[in-house]
Amino acid sequence: MNKWLGKGIRLVFLAVLIATMAQPARAQMIGSDPVVQPFCAVFKSPELKVAAELMCEGRLLRTFAGFANERVAFAKMLPMIAVECGEPGAFFDRTKGTIFVCYELGRVVLERIAREAGSGANAQPQFAAGAFFFLFAHELGHAAIHLHRLPVQGREEDAADQIAMLLLTDMADKNREAAPSWASGAHWFVSNRRLFYAPGHFSAEPQPDPQRQLDLACWIYGSDPARYAALAQDAKLPAARAQRCPEEFRQMANAARGMLSSHLKR
Ligand SMILES: [Zn+2]
Repeated sequence: MNKWLGKGIRLVFLAVLIATMAQPARAQMIGSDPVVQPFCAVFKSPELKVAAELMCEGRLLRTFAGFANERVAFAKMLPMIAVECGEPGAFFDRTKGTIFVCYELGRVVLERIAREAGSGANAQPQFAAGAFFFLFAHELGHAAIHLHRLPVQGREEDAADQIAMLLLTDMADKNREAAPSWASGAHWFVSNRRLFYAPGHFSAEPQPDPQRQLDLACWIYGSDPARYAALAQDAKLPAARAQRCPEEFRQMANAARGMLSSHLKR
């Protein structure tokens, strides 16, 4: 098929999808500001129901978008669409200016959590919420970087992680009860994410990256050592490193704030 014709058909498909199938999870307008706007597309495969319900009716998308809108300003609406893709994935589409999160990815995440978490604290709904919030926040980081042409020092993946962590630690500060479970879920997700992202996402890593997992654990722990002591243990943060984590968190948060600069609402 002609390349441009194929692209045109895909664009038409997307427009139809958004116009007729996707239902706004609920308007997220704050005054007249453009915002992160979650959409939930209908799906056909019954096996996606649990993940779709969690992301949509369970309000994970809407909760995250609400926080993001309090924190980050966008020059135009940023759709965040939960959709049946045919494969597990999540990505910011630069040409469409849209974040896509596949229900299939939600399904894989939930299945893996159920398999790995047993019946302990990691089986709690807030643990899964933490994994999803990290995923959403990381993609929002990519969106902010591209939509605002943010000055990225080093790898974009790391910059997206830093923006994600700034958002998540802020969310956690307002939800102290859920915070430790969210943190554990986010850390679990980072330990597993190379399995989750679709081809074309920028994170294609041939190997797991223990350094990145440790950095993330250190930032979370450093944001509030008393609150996240259990995570430091689970992540096996060496004692000498753990001592430096509050300062590492401060530097990371400053770097993320510096990147977002005037796009940060407060
Ligand atoms: Zn990424």
